[in-house]
Amino acid sequence: MSILTKHHRRKLLAEPFPADWEAILEQDLGIWPLMNDGDRSRLRDVVRIIVDEKYWEGCAGVEMTDRIRVLIAAMAGMLLLDRDHGYYHNVRTVLVYPEAYVQQQESMGSDGVMHSGSANLGEAWFNGPVVLSWKDSLESARNPGRGLNVVYHEFAHTLDMLTGMTNGTPPMRERDHYGAWHEVMTREFADIRSIYERGGRDVVRSYGVTNVAEFFAVTTEVFFDAPSHLLKARPDLYEQFKVFYGQDPVTRLPDG
Ligand SMILES: [Zn+2]
Repeated sequence: MSILTKHHRRKLLAEPFPADWEAILEQDLGIWPLMNDGDRSRLRDVVRIIVDEKYWEGCAGVEMTDRIRVLIAAMAGMLLLDRDHGYYHNVRTVLVYPEAYVQQQESMGSDGVMHSGSANLGEAWFNGPVVLSWKDSLESARNPGRGLNVVYHEFAHTLDMLTGMTNGTPPMRERDHYGAWHEVMTREFADIRSIYERGGRDVVRSYGVTNVAEFFAVTTEVFFDAPSHLLKARPDLYEQFKVFYGQDPVTRLPDG
């Protein structure tokens, strides 16, 4: 991080958090009343940095507002409460569409698109913009507990991309975390895939076993948005995400 960035952030965070932003969080972020004071305080800082440092653009008739910026930044920021990962420095632009849009292409890879499946609720491009449906982002903000959150999903992809590869393994905190991560992710992915092949159901929805990148993004949604379900059904997977994100979300969303 440059000295300039550091200085700018310090100045930004020295200002009081805008009262109308606080009102937006209280009104529309379902998780907000469930968070403890420490996490809320941290999230306010993360929101300010993300709102400030990204270029926000409304598309197809969306007029960009603080409400859109603050709510999307708050959900993206939930993933960074423990480790900031450079505040998504690989994401310069957030494009917001009114609702789900028609998928132009379907591809993935180091230079491709990672999208949210046939619903087309969002996309994250390698070193490019995050694209979100406002309708689905707002639903995600208001309704925690379903294991669905398009903002968590797309920003999880961008954490995965920090390694230079979109392979479902984001940069770990410690070198020796990779072994257990690979072991658990490989085993659980295979198990869940075989469950769907047999016509069964799982706490990780079927789109999550499309490939390893989607597995990381979809499991991130469940981990933060319906943590008790993930903990109960797949404790080993929960544990790996707990170590990676440095958070134990079941403590704030116990019935999620
Ligand atoms: Zn995806």
